[in-house]
Amino acid sequence: MTAVVVHHYRRRLSLADGERRYDALEKRLAARPTIGVPTVTLDAERDPFTAPGGGTSYRDRFTGLYAHRTLPGIGHNVPRRRRLRAGRRRRRPPLRLAAEMVTGQNGDVNLDHVFVCGNPALDFAATLRARRSVRFEMFVTPERLNAWYVESGLVDAVSPGQEADIERARAVREAVYQLVTARRLGEEYDGASLTVVNNAARTSPAVPQLTPSGRWTQATPDEALSLVARHAVELLSGPDVPLLKECGNPECTRTYIDRSRGMRRQWCGMDSCGNKIKAAAYRARKRTATDTSRRRTS
Ligand SMILES: [Zn+2]
Repeated sequence: MTAVVVHHYRRRLSLADGERRYDALEKRLAARPTIGVPTVTLDAERDPFTAPGGGTSYRDRFTGLYAHRTLPGIGHNVPRRRRLRAGRRRRRPPLRLAAEMVTGQNGDVNLDHVFVCGNPALDFAATLRARRSVRFEMFVTPERLNAWYVESGLVDAVSPGQEADIERARAVREAVYQLVTARRLGEEYDGASLTVVNNAARTSPAVPQLTPSGRWTQATPDEALSLVARHAVELLSGPDVPLLKECGNPECTRTYIDRSRGMRRQWCGMDSCGNKIKAAAYRARKRTATDTSRRRTS
């Protein structure tokens, strides 16, 4: 299965360049080719911007096996609608997943930035992944750091950065993580971490500007970092503190805001952790079953 995500605001509204490596794919999609692989198209019943049309307006673009689903009771931003989440999940024993934390299904290291924590400061803190085991660093170049700022939605564009920008960002990130963890565990803040975050928050932030085509926020790396620090200040002094939770995958170490009813959410995200835990649990069960049957036959 292949998923191609076209970012409407960046690409279709031409507010920013897309990723170069996908240029060829995007050119092909822009030409509205017919698509021959089996396809399910989706639209949302309650989308106020584009009314559901049963797929009729694009049905002729798909020549293979085809089905259309209209999602009942769902509004404009389909992935964020809670109703789509699967039903109740059973609690499973924790599993060790250090290697899988940073690899995709094909075994390659997955370098995509992920935004699942419910607050940019928490997502930022999570860019050092698997803190208790492999400690995988996402900010390896100034470009990767700037990509995070843009993909987070905090800013629309960032001026090119230097190594020193990475160092400052990592320092703020580690301070944010320390403060978030202290707050989550009901412990005291570390004074040095407070200073680092407050200094970054005091720096002048990126300011959104109104343009004929909408809002546009241009930033330097420091201005973008200031926005992250301000989010941390707001978060840690705000009403979401009691909802802070660490992901149920012991290797993950992401902290997220659990807004689910009864705070029953177990994972930072199904794609990032929930599914991996399930797959690992399945393999573990299978292994046990095979061992048992081997013992029986020998
Ligand atoms: Zn997780």
